[in-house]
This record gives sequence, C-alpha cells and structure tokens, in this order.
Amino acid sequence: MKRKVLGALLSVAMMATLLVGCGDSGSAPAASTTDGAAAADTAAPAATDTAAPADTAASGGGKKVGVAMPTQSSERWINDGANMKAKLEELGYEVDLQYAEDDIQAQVSQVENMIASGANCLVIASIDSDALVNVEAQAKEAGIPIIAYDRLLKNTDAVSYYASFDNKGVGTAIAKYIEEKKDLPGAKAAGESYTIEFFMGSPDDNNAKMLYDGIIEVLQPYLDDGTLVCKSGRTSFDDTCILRWSQETAQQNCENYLTGFYADEDLDIACTAFDGFAYGVKSALEGAGYTEANWPLITGQDAELMAVKNIISGKQTMSIYKDTRLLADKCVTMVQAVLEGTEPEINDTEQYDNGVIVVPSYLCTPIAVDKDNYEEIIVGGGYYTAEQLAE
Ligand code: BGC
Repeated sequence: MKRKVLGALLSVAMMATLLVGCGDSGSAPAASTTDGAAAADTAAPAATDTAAPADTAASGGGKKVGVAMPTQSSERWINDGANMKAKLEELGYEVDLQYAEDDIQAQVSQVENMIASGANCLVIASIDSDALVNVEAQAKEAGIPIIAYDRLLKNTDAVSYYASFDNKGVGTAIAKYIEEKKDLPGAKAAGESYTIEFFMGSPDDNNAKMLYDGIIEVLQPYLDDGTLVCKSGRTSFDDTCILRWSQETAQQNCENYLTGFYADEDLDIACTAFDGFAYGVKSALEGAGYTEANWPLITGQDAELMAVKNIISGKQTMSIYKDTRLLADKCVTMVQAVLEGTEPEINDTEQYDNGVIVVPSYLCTPIAVDKDNYEEIIVGGGYYTAEQLAE
C-alpha cells in the first residue's frame, strides 16, 4: 500500500507485446492446475452425506447417462466426474464418463458417440459453451434430453436444465473479500491505495464473464477513485480473460506485469478467478523474488486441495469453495426428472438466458474460504480431511 502518487504508466502499445491473453487462440496450452506437482495430488473430496433420498434408490433401471466433462487437468472436474458417476450408478444408471482434455472437437465426438451408443440422457460440462450446438440438435432429434453441468450451454433449445453455482455471486464474493480484507473504504478515506492486477476466466465459458461482472461491480468504484491502482491498465474482461483457463498463461501474464510495471512498487493484490491461476501467479511471484514480507493478497476459485494447502502455508489468501458433491446431487435430480418424470428443485428461472431459451437452473451457493474458516467449512464439511491437508 502507498499514499496515492500516480507513477507514470507504460503505454498500452507496450502491453500489447507483453501479454498473452484471450486473443491467443487456437494453439493455447491446455489448462493445467499443477502447482509444480502432479495433478495426482488431487485426492477427491470425501463422499457426500447428501445423497439422493432413499425412495429414489435404483430408479435408473439400466438407463444410460453420458457424462461429458471438459478436462482432467484441473482437480475440480475430476471430482465432478467421479461424484456424478458414483451417484448415478448408485441409482441404477449406466454411466459413460468422458473427458475431452479441453479439445473442443474431441468433446463433440464424445457426445456424438454417446448419442450413437444409445444414451438416454446427456450431462454436459462444455469446454466452449457455443461449440456443441449441432450435436445438441442431434440429441434433441433423437429424443435425448440434455442437462448443462456447471457451464451453460448456449444458443440451443435442446437443454432441459442447468445445475451450477451462483456464478456472478462467485465474483461478488471474491471482490467483497478483497474489499473487506484490505479495508478499501478505510484506505479510501485515508487517501491510500493498493495495486491490483486481474486474471479472469476463459471467454468461451459463460461463467467467466458472469464472475468478472460480479467482481467489477464491487471494485470499479475503487478503481475509479484511485484506491485501487491497476498499473497495467488492464481491467476489462477482454483484456484480462485467459483462454481455456490456462495456468501457464496466467503465470506468463503475471511475469509480464511484474517486469513491465512493478519494478519499483510491489503488487498488492492478484485478483484471480481460478485456483490454477493462483498457482501460476505464485510461481511468477516466487520467480520475481517476492517473499512473505511483500506477498500479495491472492484470490482463487474451487478450493482445490492444493489451493487449500497454499492457503494454510500463506501462498494463496482465499478461494471459493464450491461443493461439487452438492452440485452432483442437484444435477442427478435433474437427470431423474427428465428420465423418470420427477420434479427437480429449481431456484432460478431468470438469469440463464442462453440466447434461445431461459434455462431453468439450480444455483448452489459459493463460499469464500481462507485460513480463518477452512477448518470449519472444508474439514468440518467433510470435503477434505485434516490428514489430506497435512500431507
Ligand atoms: C467453473 C470454475 C472453474 C473453471 C475452470 C468454470 O466454468 O465454474 O469452477 O474454476 O471453470 O475449470
């Protein structure tokens, strides 16, 4: 933090050569959330105690559910897939679980194969919200209902329900955390300022823009009045989004920011939208010689096992806990609704207009976790054990 003295800003033209961002399409590296360690350090959360009610047990009767997940490079999706498979199998469904490793065409082919092999229902967590329009139409034609899992499926009328978290709420929670921990109203009153840089999600993921909207709604006034100073000048979604949620790109962007703008002044806040980005930022900061003495506030999302360990060790400040067990429970009730004619619980019928229809949704509540509440929320909730966190 420092008294407000605005340093000279480097030109935007210089930044264009420094940064890799959304525009860097096509050959983008696959997202990877490995904090220098293998993704194997990703023990799944403990099984949920919120399983479907007993009277729905084994209702599946051998019906087939295709579950298409985006990537195994991030721990959360491994857990999502495992939870969905276990819960559906418990109910007597046959499950075809596929991961596409962030390759859009591979996901299209996987969904085509699911249709061809007689799936009765599809659950899709898309890589690109728009890219599955044709295959979704094929499913509709074949009478196969689709549930959108965590990521909205856009521009299609083939989707029956959407199970997710309050995606704008994730952004609001991240920004409110920054506002509170840095006491931005107090800093404003005292004429003090903090430096901040943004690392936002993939432009082809509807969640990423909603999350950004939640963040900027809270932080824009502080950027406007100079309480927050973004020395790179990159505060828009277009300037800060990172294609396919790539950890490598986040690290590279952070390295470029530190070299280009933070030679004489520390970065105080790294506002990132994903634990994978927080790992990339951590590596960049270590490379630039940051220590405990000047370590910035770093945000994240997903409460991955590694992220919670980093929170405990002080290398990440907070994350957003999204209980994937709960999400899977809600999604399973949607599968049952379309296959068995039951009524799923819905709590939003307004926000998720996919361009063609407003998709009836259930939004779970995201929770900010940090070193003060992780024991209560994460360990107490049975998501990770104290032993897993100590390993
Ligand atoms: C999810 C986040 C996740 C991100 C990267 C988003 O669609 O909502 O929870 O961190 O994808 O995998």
